[in-house]
Amino acid sequence: MSTLEIRDLHVEVETESGPKEILRGVDLTVSSNETHAIMGPNGSGKSTLAYSIAGHPKYQVTKGQVLLDGEDVLAMEVDERARAGLFLAMQYPVEVPGVSMSNFLRSAATATRGEAPKVRHWVKEVKGAMSDLEIDPAFAERSVNEGFSGGEKKRHEVLQMALLKPKFAVLDETDSGLDVDALRVVSKGVNDYKAASDVGVLLITHYTRILRYIAPDKVHVFVNGRVAESGGPELADELEENGYERFIGAKEEQP
Ligand code: ADP
Ligand code: MG
Ligand code: MG
Repeated sequence: MSTLEIRDLHVEVETESGPKEILRGVDLTVSSNETHAIMGPNGSGKSTLAYSIAGHPKYQVTKGQVLLDGEDVLAMEVDERARAGLFLAMQYPVEVPGVSMSNFLRSAATATRGEAPKVRHWVKEVKGAMSDLEIDPAFAERSVNEGFSGGEKKRHEVLQMALLKPKFAVLDETDSGLDVDALRVVSKGVNDYKAASDVGVLLITHYTRILRYIAPDKVHVFVNGRVAESGGPELADELEENGYERFIGAKEEQP
């Protein structure tokens, strides 16, 4: 069993008017085989949390810890984090012109596994995973995310997860911009990987819709750079009904 532990995490970014604190003491622990939904309004710092776990250089950790089975994640380089079993599906996947999807996936797999996957095996693996996610095989030769629709980009994020087989996956608004059919396919991809592995999932979302497809064990309301409240799936139902207002109000009472 593995544990990803976030303790009192404070993160700031450099802005034109100086450093700005965005995460203000995040506490969160996810174990293998658990799915935690992180739900919060726009601008609450959800993507900042995702990037900080993945090691994006723009986000400066000023306090706190991220531990993977007790190991200091914040001391690791980005590639070490991937090798240690962390994966981030980005809210806005990056386009990489001139690099084919197939080369990109193979390089990523080589980097995370520590050795190049055997070609025959790999081709089968990729084809299988693409077919599960209803991705046209022609995408293998296209440049990474270039000219992909929003839904195609999200499918490819889940494809990467399925092939890289992380211990912990942070899925940042993997549901945003998807129509119902794409949402079903993407959710099935996540659920299939959950069933086939011990992955722990941090499912970041703005809407409760995806939680009808991917059942969370815990729900955290994320407001103003920290977890305002944690609970079970019933918390998502409350959000569906009443929105974030109650929690945003609570924020303003803080010092
Ligand atoms: P969410 O994902 O919850 O919508 P973000 O983490 O993207 O929130 O952003 C949280 C806040 O931090 C926002 O006010 C955003 O404008 C600010 N922010 C995030 N990244 C940067 C950055 N690189 N430079 C300046 N401000 C940023
Ligand atoms: Mg975001
Ligand atoms: Mg499982």
